[in-house]
Amino acid sequence: MLSAMVCEIERYALHDGPGIRSVVFLKGCPLTCLWCANPQTQKKDNELYYDRGKCVQCGRCMQACDWGTLNLADDGIRIDRNHCRLCGKCMRVCPAGALTLAGRWMNVEDVFAEVSRDMIFYQQSGGGVTISGGEVLMHEAFVSALLKKCKEHYFHTAIETSGFGSLQSLLAIVKYCDLILFDIKHADNEIHKKLTGVDNQVILENLRRLGESHGNIIIRVPLIPGLNDGEDNIERIMEIAGTNRIKEIHILPYHSLGREKYKQLGRTYGLETTGPPEKEQVATIKRKLERGGLYVNVGG
Ligand code: SF4
Ligand code: SF4
Repeated sequence: MLSAMVCEIERYALHDGPGIRSVVFLKGCPLTCLWCANPQTQKKDNELYYDRGKCVQCGRCMQACDWGTLNLADDGIRIDRNHCRLCGKCMRVCPAGALTLAGRWMNVEDVFAEVSRDMIFYQQSGGGVTISGGEVLMHEAFVSALLKKCKEHYFHTAIETSGFGSLQSLLAIVKYCDLILFDIKHADNEIHKKLTGVDNQVILENLRRLGESHGNIIIRVPLIPGLNDGEDNIERIMEIAGTNRIKEIHILPYHSLGREKYKQLGRTYGLETTGPPEKEQVATIKRKLERGGLYVNVGG
Protein backbone atom coordinates (compact mmCIF):
# COMPACT_ATOMS: atom_id res chain seq x y z
CA MET A 1 0.00 0.00 0.00
CA LEU A 2 1.41 3.43 -0.95
CA SER A 3 2.13 5.66 2.01
CA ALA A 4 3.67 9.05 2.78
CA MET A 5 4.50 11.03 5.88
CA VAL A 6 1.65 13.47 6.48
CA CYS A 7 2.12 16.51 8.70
CA GLU A 8 -1.48 17.62 8.80
CA ILE A 9 -4.83 17.39 7.08
CA GLU A 10 -6.42 20.79 7.39
CA ARG A 11 -10.21 20.78 7.14
CA TYR A 12 -12.48 23.63 6.00
CA ALA A 13 -9.66 25.45 4.21
CA LEU A 14 -10.73 28.39 2.04
CA HIS A 15 -7.53 29.64 0.42
CA ASP A 16 -6.05 26.72 -1.51
CA GLY A 17 -8.46 26.35 -4.39
CA PRO A 18 -12.21 26.92 -4.86
CA GLY A 19 -14.85 26.20 -2.23
CA ILE A 20 -14.38 24.44 1.06
CA ARG A 21 -11.38 22.13 0.94
CA SER A 22 -9.23 19.70 2.82
CA VAL A 23 -5.52 20.38 2.44
CA VAL A 24 -3.13 17.46 2.89
CA PHE A 25 0.34 18.63 3.95
CA LEU A 26 3.10 16.14 3.12
CA LYS A 27 6.55 16.07 4.67
CA GLY A 28 9.67 16.63 2.57
CA CYS A 29 10.71 19.59 0.42
CA PRO A 30 13.89 20.32 -1.58
CA LEU A 31 13.53 24.07 -0.92
CA THR A 32 14.42 25.96 2.25
CA CYS A 33 12.59 29.26 1.73
CA LEU A 34 13.63 31.79 4.36
CA TRP A 35 10.01 32.73 5.09
CA CYS A 36 8.57 29.19 5.16
CA ALA A 37 5.56 29.19 7.52
CA ASN A 38 5.53 25.38 7.70
CA PRO A 39 9.12 24.40 8.56
CA GLN A 40 7.86 21.06 9.88
CA THR A 41 7.15 20.05 6.27
CA GLN A 42 10.70 20.72 4.99
CA LYS A 43 12.63 17.64 6.16
CA LYS A 44 11.48 14.33 4.79
CA ASP A 45 12.23 12.53 8.05
CA ASN A 46 10.13 12.96 11.13
CA GLU A 47 10.98 15.51 13.86
CA LEU A 48 10.09 16.11 17.46
CA TYR A 49 8.24 19.31 18.37
CA TYR A 50 8.79 20.67 21.85
CA ASP A 51 6.37 23.33 23.13
CA ARG A 52 8.12 25.00 26.05
CA GLY A 53 4.96 26.95 26.94
CA LYS A 54 3.08 23.74 27.73
CA CYS A 55 5.91 21.95 29.55
CA VAL A 56 5.50 21.62 33.33
CA GLN A 57 9.09 20.34 33.74
CA CYS A 58 8.03 17.09 35.38
CA GLY A 59 10.94 15.14 33.85
CA ARG A 60 8.82 12.11 32.85
CA CYS A 61 10.04 12.32 29.26
CA MET A 62 13.67 12.03 30.40
CA GLN A 63 12.88 8.91 32.40
CA ALA A 64 11.07 7.35 29.44
CA CYS A 65 13.81 7.99 26.87
CA ASP A 66 16.01 4.90 26.40
CA TRP A 67 18.58 6.88 24.46
CA GLY A 68 19.47 9.60 26.97
CA THR A 69 18.73 12.34 24.48
CA LEU A 70 16.72 14.58 26.82
CA ASN A 71 17.99 16.89 29.56
CA LEU A 72 16.13 19.23 31.85
CA ALA A 73 17.55 22.77 31.95
CA ASP A 74 16.27 25.79 33.90
CA ASP A 75 14.10 26.90 31.00
CA GLY A 76 12.84 23.50 29.88
CA ILE A 77 13.87 20.36 28.05
CA ARG A 78 16.92 20.18 25.80
CA ILE A 79 16.74 17.62 22.97
CA ASP A 80 19.86 16.12 21.44
CA ARG A 81 18.30 15.96 18.00
CA ASN A 82 21.31 14.25 16.44
CA HIS A 83 20.72 11.19 18.59
CA CYS A 84 16.94 11.21 18.98
CA ARG A 85 15.51 7.99 17.44
CA LEU A 86 12.04 9.50 17.02
CA CYS A 87 10.52 6.56 18.86
CA GLY A 88 7.83 8.75 20.44
CA LYS A 89 8.10 7.26 23.94
CA CYS A 90 8.65 10.68 25.53
CA MET A 91 5.59 12.03 23.77
CA ARG A 92 3.41 9.20 25.05
CA VAL A 93 4.28 9.84 28.71
CA CYS A 94 4.15 13.64 28.62
CA PRO A 95 1.14 14.74 30.70
CA ALA A 96 1.08 18.21 29.15
CA GLY A 97 1.15 17.40 25.43
CA ALA A 98 4.40 19.37 25.16
CA LEU A 99 6.10 16.82 22.90
CA THR A 100 4.69 15.71 19.56
CA LEU A 101 5.98 14.21 16.33
CA ALA A 102 5.63 16.47 13.30
CA GLY A 103 4.48 13.75 10.90
CA ARG A 104 2.80 10.35 10.74
CA TRP A 105 2.86 7.67 8.07
CA MET A 106 -0.48 7.33 6.32
CA ASN A 107 -1.48 5.25 3.33
CA VAL A 108 -3.70 6.43 0.49
CA GLU A 109 -6.76 4.68 1.93
CA ASP A 110 -6.31 6.35 5.34
CA VAL A 111 -5.95 9.81 3.86
CA PHE A 112 -8.86 9.28 1.51
CA ALA A 113 -11.05 8.08 4.40
CA GLU A 114 -10.20 11.24 6.30
CA VAL A 115 -10.77 13.71 3.47
CA SER A 116 -13.99 12.03 2.35
CA ARG A 117 -15.59 12.87 5.71
CA ASP A 118 -16.15 16.36 4.27
CA MET A 119 -17.59 15.23 0.95
CA ILE A 120 -20.87 17.02 1.64
CA PHE A 121 -19.03 20.36 2.02
CA TYR A 122 -17.15 19.81 -1.24
CA GLN A 123 -20.39 19.07 -3.06
CA GLN A 124 -22.19 22.11 -1.68
CA SER A 125 -19.34 24.59 -2.13
CA GLY A 126 -17.59 23.37 -5.28
CA GLY A 127 -14.60 22.52 -3.12
CA GLY A 128 -12.45 19.45 -2.84
CA VAL A 129 -8.98 18.28 -1.92
CA THR A 130 -5.66 20.10 -2.28
CA ILE A 131 -2.36 18.32 -1.77
CA SER A 132 0.43 20.56 -0.58
CA GLY A 133 3.95 20.22 0.72
CA GLY A 134 6.54 20.06 1.53
CA GLU A 135 6.71 19.34 -2.17
CA VAL A 136 4.22 17.05 -3.88
CA LEU A 137 6.71 16.18 -6.64
CA MET A 138 8.75 14.22 -4.08
CA HIS A 139 5.77 11.88 -3.63
CA GLU A 140 4.67 11.16 -7.21
CA ALA A 141 3.17 7.69 -6.72
CA PHE A 142 1.34 8.55 -3.50
CA VAL A 143 -0.02 11.87 -4.76
CA SER A 144 -1.12 10.40 -8.11
CA ALA A 145 -2.93 7.53 -6.39
CA LEU A 146 -4.66 9.82 -3.89
CA LEU A 147 -5.75 12.33 -6.52
CA LYS A 148 -6.97 9.52 -8.80
CA LYS A 149 -9.13 8.20 -5.98
CA CYS A 150 -10.48 11.69 -5.31
CA LYS A 151 -11.33 12.08 -9.01
CA GLU A 152 -13.13 8.73 -9.00
CA HIS A 153 -15.39 10.23 -6.33
CA TYR A 154 -15.84 13.50 -8.27
CA PHE A 155 -13.94 15.69 -5.79
CA HIS A 156 -12.34 18.81 -7.24
CA THR A 157 -8.58 18.25 -7.03
CA ALA A 158 -5.65 20.64 -6.74
CA ILE A 159 -1.96 20.58 -5.92
CA GLU A 160 0.26 23.29 -4.58
CA THR A 161 3.81 22.99 -5.91
CA SER A 162 7.10 24.86 -5.94
CA GLY A 163 7.59 23.38 -9.41
CA PHE A 164 11.01 22.10 -8.39
CA GLY A 165 11.24 18.42 -9.27
CA SER A 166 11.09 16.04 -12.17
CA LEU A 167 8.95 17.01 -15.15
CA GLN A 168 7.92 13.38 -15.45
CA SER A 169 6.50 13.43 -11.90
CA LEU A 170 4.74 16.71 -12.53
CA LEU A 171 3.09 15.48 -15.74
CA ALA A 172 2.09 12.21 -14.08
CA ILE A 173 0.43 13.99 -11.14
CA VAL A 174 -1.39 16.68 -13.12
CA LYS A 175 -3.33 14.06 -15.07
CA TYR A 176 -5.55 13.92 -11.96
CA CYS A 177 -5.58 17.66 -11.17
CA ASP A 178 -8.30 20.19 -11.89
CA LEU A 179 -6.12 23.05 -10.68
CA ILE A 180 -2.40 23.65 -10.20
CA LEU A 181 -1.24 26.30 -7.74
CA PHE A 182 2.30 26.96 -8.96
CA ASP A 183 4.65 29.10 -6.84
CA ILE A 184 7.00 31.64 -8.37
CA LYS A 185 9.14 33.06 -5.61
CA HIS A 186 11.65 35.10 -7.60
CA ALA A 187 12.29 35.52 -11.32
CA ASP A 188 16.05 36.02 -10.93
CA ASN A 189 17.94 32.76 -10.65
CA GLU A 190 20.75 33.95 -8.38
CA ILE A 191 18.38 35.66 -5.95
CA HIS A 192 16.08 32.64 -6.08
CA LYS A 193 18.95 30.40 -5.00
CA LYS A 194 19.78 32.69 -2.07
CA LEU A 195 16.18 32.82 -0.88
CA THR A 196 15.17 29.20 -1.40
CA GLY A 197 18.37 27.18 -1.74
CA VAL A 198 17.58 26.02 -5.29
CA ASP A 199 17.84 27.12 -8.91
CA ASN A 200 14.68 28.50 -10.57
CA GLN A 201 15.49 27.30 -14.09
CA VAL A 202 14.00 23.86 -13.51
CA ILE A 203 10.90 25.54 -12.12
CA LEU A 204 10.47 27.88 -15.08
CA GLU A 205 11.05 25.09 -17.58
CA ASN A 206 8.52 22.87 -15.77
CA LEU A 207 6.01 25.72 -15.86
CA ARG A 208 6.58 26.15 -19.59
CA ARG A 209 6.04 22.45 -20.28
CA LEU A 210 3.04 22.32 -17.96
CA GLY A 211 1.48 25.31 -19.72
CA GLU A 212 1.53 23.36 -22.98
CA SER A 213 -0.73 20.64 -21.62
CA HIS A 214 -2.74 22.06 -18.71
CA GLY A 215 -5.10 25.00 -18.94
CA ASN A 216 -5.79 25.67 -15.28
CA ILE A 217 -2.67 27.03 -13.60
CA ILE A 218 -2.59 29.82 -11.05
CA ILE A 219 0.75 31.42 -10.16
CA ARG A 220 1.21 32.10 -6.47
CA VAL A 221 3.72 34.69 -5.29
CA PRO A 222 4.59 34.89 -1.59
CA LEU A 223 5.27 38.61 -1.16
CA ILE A 224 8.21 39.12 1.19
CA PRO A 225 9.21 42.73 1.97
CA GLY A 226 12.72 43.53 0.85
CA LEU A 227 13.25 40.12 -0.74
CA ASN A 228 10.98 39.77 -3.77
CA ASP A 229 8.64 42.79 -3.75
CA GLY A 230 10.73 45.01 -6.08
CA GLU A 231 9.12 46.45 -9.21
CA ASP A 232 11.54 44.61 -11.50
CA ASN A 233 10.69 41.21 -10.01
CA ILE A 234 6.94 41.86 -10.22
CA GLU A 235 7.29 42.87 -13.87
CA ARG A 236 9.31 39.75 -14.68
CA ILE A 237 6.75 37.52 -12.95
CA MET A 238 4.08 39.24 -15.03
CA GLU A 239 6.08 38.38 -18.17
CA ILE A 240 6.39 34.75 -17.02
CA ALA A 241 2.60 34.59 -16.64
CA GLY A 242 2.11 36.13 -20.09
CA THR A 243 4.60 33.82 -21.81
CA ASN A 244 2.86 30.78 -20.34
CA ARG A 245 -0.67 32.08 -21.08
CA ILE A 246 -1.55 32.15 -17.39
CA LYS A 247 -4.45 34.41 -16.52
CA GLU A 248 -4.49 34.42 -12.72
CA ILE A 249 -2.01 35.30 -9.96
CA HIS A 250 -2.42 35.04 -6.20
CA ILE A 251 -0.33 37.29 -3.99
CA LEU A 252 0.35 35.85 -0.56
CA PRO A 253 1.54 38.67 1.74
CA TYR A 254 4.25 37.60 4.19
CA HIS A 255 3.27 36.80 7.77
CA SER A 256 5.35 35.49 10.62
CA LEU A 257 2.88 32.94 12.00
CA GLY A 258 5.37 30.11 11.50
CA ARG A 259 8.01 31.72 13.73
CA GLU A 260 7.08 29.77 16.87
CA LYS A 261 7.37 26.45 15.00
CA TYR A 262 11.07 27.07 14.34
CA LYS A 263 11.67 27.32 18.09
CA GLN A 264 9.69 24.16 18.72
CA LEU A 265 11.80 22.31 16.15
CA GLY A 266 15.05 23.66 17.61
CA ARG A 267 15.80 25.76 14.51
CA THR A 268 16.59 29.42 13.89
CA TYR A 269 14.13 31.62 12.02
CA GLY A 270 15.89 33.66 9.32
CA LEU A 271 13.50 36.63 9.12
CA GLU A 272 13.23 37.78 12.75
CA THR A 273 13.00 41.47 11.85
CA THR A 274 10.74 41.22 8.78
CA GLY A 275 7.16 42.44 9.07
CA PRO A 276 4.19 42.07 6.70
CA PRO A 277 4.04 44.31 3.61
CA GLU A 278 2.07 47.57 3.84
CA LYS A 279 -1.52 47.28 2.57
CA GLU A 280 -0.93 50.17 0.18
CA GLN A 281 2.08 48.40 -1.34
CA VAL A 282 0.08 45.21 -1.85
CA ALA A 283 -2.71 47.24 -3.48
CA THR A 284 -0.19 48.93 -5.80
CA ILE A 285 1.26 45.59 -6.89
CA LYS A 286 -2.23 44.20 -7.40
CA ARG A 287 -3.19 47.15 -9.64
CA LYS A 288 0.02 46.76 -11.63
CA LEU A 289 -0.67 43.08 -12.29
CA GLU A 290 -4.29 43.81 -13.18
CA ARG A 291 -3.20 46.47 -15.66
CA GLY A 292 -1.09 43.71 -17.21
CA GLY A 293 -4.32 41.80 -17.90
CA LEU A 294 -4.19 39.34 -14.99
CA TYR A 295 -6.92 38.40 -12.57
CA VAL A 296 -5.35 38.97 -9.15
CA ASN A 297 -6.36 37.64 -5.78
CA VAL A 298 -4.67 38.69 -2.56
CA GLY A 299 -4.37 35.93 0.02
CA GLY A 300 -5.08 32.92 -2.22
S1 SF4 B 1 11.51 10.41 20.55
FE1 SF4 B 1 12.42 8.64 21.62
S2 SF4 B 1 14.63 8.92 21.35
FE2 SF4 B 1 13.69 10.87 20.88
S3 SF4 B 1 13.74 12.03 22.79
FE3 SF4 B 1 11.74 11.00 22.70
S4 SF4 B 1 12.03 9.07 23.77
FE4 SF4 B 1 14.08 9.88 23.32
S1 SF4 C 1 7.08 15.02 30.14
FE1 SF4 C 1 6.26 16.78 29.05
S2 SF4 C 1 5.76 18.24 30.68
FE2 SF4 C 1 7.14 16.71 31.59
S3 SF4 C 1 9.22 17.62 31.32
FE3 SF4 C 1 8.85 16.32 29.56
S4 SF4 C 1 8.02 17.72 28.01
FE4 SF4 C 1 7.84 18.76 29.97
